[in-house]
Amino acid sequence: RDLVAQLSQQAVQKSVAKTRIESPPLEFSELHEALLQHRFILHYQPKVDRSTGTLAGVEALVRLQHPTRGLVYPGDFIAVCERYQLIDALSYEVLLQAIAQLEQWKKQGFSSTISVNLSATSFENNSFMLQVNKLLAQSPILPTDLIFEVTETAVIHNMGQALAFLSRLRLSGFGLSIDDYGTGYSSVKQLSQIPFTELKIDRSLVDGIANRPHLQVIFESTVLMCNKLGIHVVAEGVENAADWQYLARFNGLMVQGYYVAKPMNSADLICWVLEGCQPIGLVQRAS
Ligand code: C2E
Ligand code: MG
Ligand code: MG
Ligand code: MG
Repeated sequence: RDLVAQLSQQAVQKSVAKTRIESPPLEFSELHEALLQHRFILHYQPKVDRSTGTLAGVEALVRLQHPTRGLVYPGDFIAVCERYQLIDALSYEVLLQAIAQLEQWKKQGFSSTISVNLSATSFENNSFMLQVNKLLAQSPILPTDLIFEVTETAVIHNMGQALAFLSRLRLSGFGLSIDDYGTGYSSVKQLSQIPFTELKIDRSLVDGIANRPHLQVIFESTVLMCNKLGIHVVAEGVENAADWQYLARFNGLMVQGYYVAKPMNSADLICWVLEGCQPIGLVQRAS
């Protein structure tokens, strides 16, 4: 009885502490206003070629500059935008900024692809393709400069529409990437029907790989499959030196993760590349 009382008291304290730290979910009006006032910005996280140590491309990750909350991360607004049907507007905003960034980089003589994340709801947006092609028609940017990332889960929940939508993107020449691979419930058969150019192995299958033999087996066989299919492979979420070292054995593998570099604004990204794409984990250890 005492223990029950004690544990319930602890639970009360914990939930009070929790509600104090957690802000309430963002509201429709805040997100709507943020879109109109251009308060969404992009940060760019590099992927590097593990063998050559050179830049292989960057992923655009959206953030919200909130007037009172500060910088808000996608975990706190993507699902909310989906629920309020604001996600197509947000996707379009992200795409506009990514294309503008590519144009600016091109002028500066800096060359990289940008990967843009799409939500499942985009598959139903018939005008998306039209809008993308219209934007590019007026721009020096090529479809091959852009890669669209979709998660396995998004594809599987809507296979028919996903197949039609993604095939059209691919036919237009855009790169197509399957994100967070290994966390959804897709079958290899379903995925093989979509013309992906890249596969990103989820962080949960990469983290700690140097010391986890069963992860090594899964990783190696996935890389082998992709090599045979002619699909590029990215290891997501590399956070430590041991995993970074382990991954050196895979030819042509791309690596993304906090050990290599965190998402950055454009200026910091260019500095990092000019300094030779040094993994930040290595720099920190050396100093
Ligand atoms: P994602 O596409 O899988 O992006 C990778 C996420 O993992 C990013 O979080 C990135 O900062 C984080 N990350 C990268 N390296 C590491 C690492 O070594 N360790 C750990 N623990 N995390 C790492 P972020 O920026 O918070 O984005 C979260 C998710 O939000 C993204 O996952 C993506 O699904 C979604 N998202 C981001 N931008 C957009 C967007 O413009 N549109 C849509 N629809 N979704 C977006
Ligand atoms: Mg992604
Ligand atoms: Mg990912
Ligand atoms: Mg992920």
